[in-house]
Amino acid sequence: MSDTYGLLIDYEYCTGCYSCEVSCKEEHNYGVGQWGIKVLDEGPWPLGDGNYNYNKIAVPTDLCDLCAERTGKGREPICVHHCLANVMTYGKVEDLAKKMCEKPKQVLWVPQYKPMDAKGEFVHDPASGVRK
Ligand code: SF4
Ligand code: SF4
Repeated sequence: MSDTYGLLIDYEYCTGCYSCEVSCKEEHNYGVGQWGIKVLDEGPWPLGDGNYNYNKIAVPTDLCDLCAERTGKGREPICVHHCLANVMTYGKVEDLAKKMCEKPKQVLWVPQYKPMDAKGEFVHDPASGVRK
């Protein structure tokens, strides 16, 4: 059986440096307004105990191909390589899920693997994130 790959992101320690966004965009030559990953602001809003909820969360988009060209050669995705806080991990989903159990405030993403095949119309790819 093929393994499914994804990205585990520890957003507790994401600094919001945007290196993932920029490096992904440059690597794939995405045009103006196109992104393979976006760093979103979740907050700030008051928790009611004097503290604020405020998270930066990097979210892969439908253009994320898990850096198929690089990872196909055994290299890590460019966003993982350039993450300044070292909070991004690429790997098999089952391994990432185990790592996810080690601490809270992490997200595990399995992006659509061949988004450009959709050619405008969203087509679910059942082989999403799968490496043969
Ligand atoms: S894995 Fe590659 S394509 Fe996906 S967000 Fe990271 S740099 Fe972009
Ligand atoms: S490169 Fe890493 S630390 Fe910087 S915004 Fe992206 S996930 Fe956060």
